Amino acid sequence: MAIERTLSIIKPDATKRNLTGKIVAKFEEAGLRVVASKRIHLTAAQAGEFYAEHKERGFYGELCEFMASEPVVVQVLEGEGAIAKNREVMGATDPAQAADGTVRKDFALSKGENSVHGSDSAESAAREIAFFFSGLELVG
Ligand code: ADP
Repeated sequence: MAIERTLSIIKPDATKRNLTGKIVAKFEEAGLRVVASKRIHLTAAQAGEFYAEHKERGFYGELCEFMASEPVVVQVLEGEGAIAKNREVMGATDPAQAADGTVRKDFALSKGENSVHGSDSAESAAREIAFFFSGLELVG
């Protein structure tokens, strides 16, 4: 399988509860490598731009406010099949549906406050990595 890169965000509910290390450990145990990382505090407008594809959904305003409520940790994860592997480690959007051992099963509070974001396709990964990082910040 090809080596891929994917964009991960450790969301405000998780940074607030000091879970960054525990979440990164799950990525690393699954064979994903952190090749870029930073802690930032998004504005609601920046969160809105990042999540533009969800503009028409009922939860969009709530999602933007949530993503701007506390700092987040944005990371680029690299590895074989990294996009799908990260989605596996994350678990289902709704923690009640997430498989045992996944980040969302272990840590998410609700469907909205669900601890992590991960790119869902190669196209999304390319757009989302470029949204947060310049080429110089990616250290493979
Ligand atoms: P995923 O993050 O699993 O790819 P989606 O792309 O469907 O899920 O949704 C993006 C994010 O929007 C979710 O991770 C979650 O934070 C939020 N969200 C999705 N559905 C709901 C909902 N029904 N109510 C509140 N927030 C939601």
